[in-house]
Amino acid sequence: MKKVVVVGGGAIGLLTSLLLARAGVTVVLIESSFVGRESSWAGGGIVSPLYPWRYSAAVTALAHWSQDFYPGFGQRLLEDTGVDPEVHVTGLYWLDLDDEAEALAWAAREGRALLPVDIAEAYQQVPVLGGGFQSAIHMPGVANVRNPRLVKALRAALAAMPNVELREHCPVTGFIHENGQIRGVTTAGGEIRAERVVLAAGAWSGELLKTLGLELPVEPVKGQMILYKCADDFLPSMVLAKGRYAIPRRDGHILIGSTLEYAGFDKTPTDNALESLKASAEELLPALKDADVVGHWAGLRPGSPEGIPFIGEVPSYPGLWLNCGHFRNGLVLAPASCQLLADLMLGREPIIDPAPYAPAGRLH
Ligand SMILES: Cc1cc2nc3c(=O)[nH]c(=O)nc-3n(C[C@H](O)[C@H](O)[C@H](O)COP(=O)(O)OP(=O)(O)OC[C@H]3O[C@@H](n4cnc5c(N)ncnc54)[C@H](O)[C@@H]3O)c2cc1C
Repeated sequence: MKKVVVVGGGAIGLLTSLLLARAGVTVVLIESSFVGRESSWAGGGIVSPLYPWRYSAAVTALAHWSQDFYPGFGQRLLEDTGVDPEVHVTGLYWLDLDDEAEALAWAAREGRALLPVDIAEAYQQVPVLGGGFQSAIHMPGVANVRNPRLVKALRAALAAMPNVELREHCPVTGFIHENGQIRGVTTAGGEIRAERVVLAAGAWSGELLKTLGLELPVEPVKGQMILYKCADDFLPSMVLAKGRYAIPRRDGHILIGSTLEYAGFDKTPTDNALESLKASAEELLPALKDADVVGHWAGLRPGSPEGIPFIGEVPSYPGLWLNCGHFRNGLVLAPASCQLLADLMLGREPIIDPAPYAPAGRLH
């Protein structure tokens, strides 16, 4: 395999491109607007599913591989590019869970450090936490990644490689289908040919597959977040209650997320969401009542059934490979997902069993 076209420059397309290019493949990465400005920019960057015990073994396998990989990955990107993705290991407290027993059973089964803690201990560790919480469990090793910097670092790493061409502002409109094979893509600026195509267009992936008459169950799921700026040491850990979370960046920015809305491709931030996120923020961290909201945005997650991504070749269209549908977990899953795809494309021993993610039987 000499040349691959990758469609979509989010975290998934960028990292897929990087891994293939490092293996010596010529990569053309095609992005309809700017690289890394959609979901991969908008997300919170928690390097864990929100409630990992509620996911299938398929999501868990990818998440665990990636979680172990992230610190070294961040460090290498910093060394290679000078851009620090800020992998920030803060740990995470879950408060007042209904399914604490399931969480602890899952952690014991999976060998992950997730421990019940006395609520007084949680208040001691996180003094700014709001009053009235009754119970807590704690996972000390969880990190968050500053995702806008992650995509910037990935872009810089690709820009430095002679075998990578980055085409921004170039929407892909369809695929070149010849002699039963996918041989490239069509764009407003003409055809781009390659031996293989990787579709990593996030929430838009299903729209592109429709041009081949395929139905991919990936749909946009809007998520809104708000941002505060506090002192660097305001919040020492991530905290999560009733589906809402607070994420501290190293410089004191605090992200509060998120909503989950089925609203098509509209990503306009709304006043309702702003009020609801502010209420959650002030319940979790009452001191935020006196702070200004310095940012409010929305992104479109690539929603898929059970959040299981599609990774592998489309059997009815040889030459067309998918890496999409990561739903709420695309940042945590990216390293494993892209490594698995690269392994399969390069004929290497895959890092994990690829069967649960195979497109075969999951497309119509
Ligand atoms: C509010 C919110 C919070 C989140 N929090 C977390 C979290 O804490 N942890 C976590 O792991 N995940 C989180 N996520 C999910 C995560 O952001 C996504 O799963 C991930 O970013 C998906 O990456 P992607 O590369 O597939 O998609 P995207 O980043 O959306 O990239 C797809 C790219 O394809 C491009 N594209 C689309 N159509 C075309 C076309 N026709 N031609 C060329 N290019 C095209 C787009 O412009 C875009 O740049 C969150 C998401 C949101 C919205």
